[in-house]
Amino acid sequence: MLTVRTIAELSAQIQKYKFSGLTIGFVPTMGYLHAGHISLVQAAKKQCAVTIVSIFVNPKQFGPGEDFSRYPRDLEHDTALLTKAGADILFVPSAEEIYTPAVRELKADTQLANIACGLARPGHFDGVVTVVARLFDLVQPDKAFFGQKDYQQLKIIQKMTEAENYPVEIIGCPLVREPDGLAMSSRNKYLTPKQRQIAPVLYRALTAAAKALQSGKNLTDARQFALNILENTPEIKIDYLEFLDRKNLTGLTEYIPNGTVILVAVYLGSTRLIDNLEA
Ligand code: AMP
Repeated sequence: MLTVRTIAELSAQIQKYKFSGLTIGFVPTMGYLHAGHISLVQAAKKQCAVTIVSIFVNPKQFGPGEDFSRYPRDLEHDTALLTKAGADILFVPSAEEIYTPAVRELKADTQLANIACGLARPGHFDGVVTVVARLFDLVQPDKAFFGQKDYQQLKIIQKMTEAENYPVEIIGCPLVREPDGLAMSSRNKYLTPKQRQIAPVLYRALTAAAKALQSGKNLTDARQFALNILENTPEIKIDYLEFLDRKNLTGLTEYIPNGTVILVAVYLGSTRLIDNLEA
């Protein structure tokens, strides 16, 4: 695997690939990689001739008081994981190279962004679409791979890609969990051993709600099942619990079998955890 740090080095490689007619798969990340990220690399390798991974902790998607400066970083470990997974290029740009004065600031789709995570993190999704568009301009991928772990983000990126007419196919990949159900996340590193034991309660609450819906309970009852589980955990503060239409993330008046997604965000101590489950 080749690690490149500048746009000039990256562009030289991209030109070679394009000249040879090779398809490019792209996996944007913020690093501190785990098996969830690696599953995206594996999907890219299956579907594309060349796999490019970026690691960039994007300052524009962190609000004031959020964890930008302490976001976990371990480039050596990330490089080892990506080499083993068979990525071709690791792009690790500086903020100066990504955010030149000419870079376009994009706005996330208002309807998709003004719910769920967008309410607790104003401006977050604008930062996400801005950096993803910038990276698409540089990497020029045929396909880009994103995790369903960030369900709302995936929808917003799909929308941005269409709106901006990027010739990039967005591939959503399944959420990867720890054996006890906790969604893998770089931020799990923040959890104390006690919090780590508590954290799978999110998945338990989601599965209880999904099972309730699938066995004929209505939205109100299913929501109450999940709330009971979460509210019985005093260490947890609920940010939101939403039952939405999978297609466009609008609110539901009744359960749509195989068309519903349950999104949840909580604070466990000062760590914000998100999870979701299709139902
Ligand atoms: P991040 O480094 O957190 O910005 O994530 C980079 C990409 O990896 C995003 O597309 C995430 O949705 C995806 N990702 C993160 N965690 C997981 C997970 N547990 N399962 C699947 N994809 C994930």
